[in-house]
Amino acid sequence: MDPSFVVIIVVVALALIFVPRMLPPRGPTCTRCDGSGQISERWPDPSQEGGWHVAEGSCPRCNGKGRMRS
Ligand SMILES: [Zn+2]
Repeated sequence: MDPSFVVIIVVVALALIFVPRMLPPRGPTCTRCDGSGQISERWPDPSQEGGWHVAEGSCPRCNGKGRMRS
């Protein structure tokens, strides 16, 4: 394989990985996770089993993106 062809493939692959991260995020910040995409919620909730609302991990509101779809 032509070495320059391999370099082009690597550059394109890196661009596909890093360009979306450098672009400004679209949409308003998710209010539930405050843009972090991760939640760690725990507060008393009589309607829940055991009397506590507990939720951790990826934010269900923005699916861990930290931003709402505009
Ligand atoms: Zn969120």
